[in-house]
This record gives sequence, C-alpha cells and structure tokens, in this order.
Amino acid sequence: MIQQAARDYAQRELIQDVLERDEKAIFPEKHIKKLAELGFLGMMVDPEYGGSGMDTIAYVLAMEEISKIDASVGVIMSINNSLICYGLNKFGSEAQKQKYLTRIASGDIIGAFLLSEPEAGSDATHQHTTAEDKGDYYLVNGTKNWISNANSASVYIVIAQTHAKKTHRGINAFIIEKNTPGITLGPHEDKMGMRSSDTHSVMFTDVKIPKENRIGDDGFGFKFAMQVLEAGRIGIASQALGIAGGAMDRAVAYSKERKAFGTELANHQSVAFKLSDMAVKIENARNLCLKAAWLKDNHMSITVASAMAKQYSADIAMEVTTEAVQIHGGYGYVKEYHVERLMREAKLTQIYEGTSEIQKIIISRNVING
Ligand SMILES: Cc1cc2nc3c(=O)[nH]c(=O)nc-3n(C[C@H](O)[C@H](O)[C@H](O)COP(=O)(O)OP(=O)(O)OC[C@H]3O[C@@H](n4cnc5c(N)ncnc54)[C@H](O)[C@@H]3O)c2cc1C
Repeated sequence: MIQQAARDYAQRELIQDVLERDEKAIFPEKHIKKLAELGFLGMMVDPEYGGSGMDTIAYVLAMEEISKIDASVGVIMSINNSLICYGLNKFGSEAQKQKYLTRIASGDIIGAFLLSEPEAGSDATHQHTTAEDKGDYYLVNGTKNWISNANSASVYIVIAQTHAKKTHRGINAFIIEKNTPGITLGPHEDKMGMRSSDTHSVMFTDVKIPKENRIGDDGFGFKFAMQVLEAGRIGIASQALGIAGGAMDRAVAYSKERKAFGTELANHQSVAFKLSDMAVKIENARNLCLKAAWLKDNHMSITVASAMAKQYSADIAMEVTTEAVQIHGGYGYVKEYHVERLMREAKLTQIYEGTSEIQKIIISRNVING
C-alpha cells in the first residue's frame, strides 16, 4: 500500500512540473506539503512524536518510487527521515523530541544536517566549526558547506568541535534553530543535478546555543554523526535505486516505440541485452537496500550492509542512466526525455553521505579484518 501510494502520487502529480523545477531550480514547496500529508516525512517515527510508525522497508519502497520521478524531492525526504528524524528519535532527549521531533516528523517544518565543511568532507574527524562551552550556553563559530535544505529547513542539526585536544572525541551535535541570530547563508549552489533541492553554505558567527540543545553526552557528536549517516545511507541507496529504475522504465518504453533498420529498438539484441543488464543491476540494488532495511528494523548491525547498498546502488544508477541515454540516442541528450536529468541526478548519489570510495573503505575494512 505504501509503495502504491508513493507511486500514484509520484506518477500523477510529481511528474507534472519536474522539468520546470529542474530547469529553474525551484524548491518543490507544494510537494513537500503533500509528502507531509502522506506521512512520508517522518515515516519511521512513532505516532506519539508526530511520525507514521512505519518501518525502514516501507521507507525504502517509498523513496524508490519518489526518486524514480524526482530525486530532488527524494533527497529532501531522505534527509528529513533518516538524518534528522532518526537522529532525534534515537538519541534526542524527551524534551528535544517534544519540542522539535514532533513538528519535523509531521512535516510541519523540515530539518537540515550540517556536517560538511570547506576543509572537512570525507574526513569528518577534523571539524573547524567550534562550539565553545560558556557555562550555561555554547558559542558556535564556523562555516558548513553543501548543506541540503539549508534555506527551507527551520531546524539544523550541527556538528561542531568543543574540545579540540580530544579530536573526534571532543565533537558535539547540536539542535540549532535557523533563525537564531548570527546565522547567515551563502548563495544558492547552481548544481549539475538535484537542482530543486536547495543547497547553501551556512555561516555561524557567535551563535548562542542553549545547553539543553546538545544531543547526548558531551563528546558524543562524532558517534552520533556516524550512526546517523550509516542509517542515512539506506535512504540514499534507495534514492539511487529509484533513479536507476526511472531511467530503465523510460529506456524500455522508448525501445518499444522507436524503430531503426525496420524494427523496434528492443528487437536489436544489443539493446535488449542492455535492458537485461539494467534489470539485473536494479534487482541486485533493490535486494541490498531491502536487506539493509531489514537488518535495521531487526536492530542488527548495518555498517557494512548500508555501505554495500549505497555504493552499489549509486554506481549502478550511474551505469544504468548512462545506458538509458545511449538507448535514446540523440533524444537522450535533450531534457524533454528525462534520462539526461536522471543521469545528472545519479552522479550525486556517488558523492554525498559518503562517496563511493568511502563506502569501499568501510566494506574492505570489514572484508579484511572481519
Ligand atoms: C549537492 C550536495 C549536497 C550535499 N548535502 C550535504 C548535507 O546536507 N549535509 C552535509 O553535511 N554534507 C552535504 N554534502 C557534502 C558531501 O557529503 C561531501 O561533498 C562528501 O562527503 C565529499 O566530501 P568533499 O566534497 O569534501 O570531497 P573530499 O573529501 O575532498 O573527496 C574528494 C575525492 O577524494 C576521495 N577521497 C577522499 N578521501 C579518500 C580516501 N581516504 N581514500 C580514497 N578516496 C578518498 C573522495 O572519494 C572523492 O572522490 C553535500 C554535497 C553535495 C555536492
């Protein structure tokens, strides 16, 4: 039912203005409201905190369907669900849940996750943003970059260094309201793909944060970020799976319509074999996503499973979308046929929430060390 609801909404409504949103980089405001109505912004949160009380498998199915049509909406949904709601639900205090989680999970407001910095991307152990302990409050200074939802979010989860000498053990995570004095945004990033999700750098100048807005114990911030990202990767993996599936659907339809050398493209074996390869890759990616989701729902370790799901799904999304453009020939290279957009969207899934290389580090460490 969840899959069908997501599919119906995506294929009837989301599709309608996706090309314009991509072209003009328009934030999908009305669609975010619709996702909130569908209960898709806090899918795995208990109803008592404003969520839908579903499991991670339901989330994977919904993410796939939404991202088949518009991965920009997929990333807004993914960040809200897996980075913000999951982080607050699992590690937030009761007061933080009451004050923030209920509104974010219900989609009344959305959140953004601020880890990356100009000089701290893959290596997040070196945070230059500082959160100085001033006794009854923290004072935050620094710059975060590449922040999705930076302008549209009302609440940020910010990772910052409190005790420099303790390196990553001295990092904290904070809930910071976007309208707090001292916060400014950089310009909207003009991106290759996912153009309607809003991405900005965020600057903090002497931003005062109440003590009660720290998540977990002093020094818990790095562990918090890593655990949240581990779960978040299931969302991005499902997004990549959806992008690949969207490209394949279009390639199959096109290959049955377009004729060359007196017959439909699908009757040329080299085209049919491309479709076969796509189908196998997508099936494998879906199985990896569902396995990671199942492990998470059953409270088992997801470190390797989510890394495998993310790396594989992102890499095959790039391969499948590239082949979908090829099957469309010249038509694949123009916007009207959507596959070039899907190819641009696929690229980002290999970069954010840990690049494909970082996933391989996680997987290979496990292969080598057990
Ligand atoms: C559109 C967009 C949205 C984003 N949204 C967010 C967000 O909401 N919140 C947030 O905190 N961040 C966000 N990010 C940041 C993203 O997570 C980082 O860009 C990513 O982690 C890579 O960091 P980097 O760009 O600094 O690249 P670098 O870390 O400098 O990496 C550059 C290259 O070197 C490779 N590399 C680095 N270290 C190693 C190594 N040890 N071994 C092998 N290869 C290595 C990488 O794989 C990559 O290919 C977003 C990024 C983009 C582009």
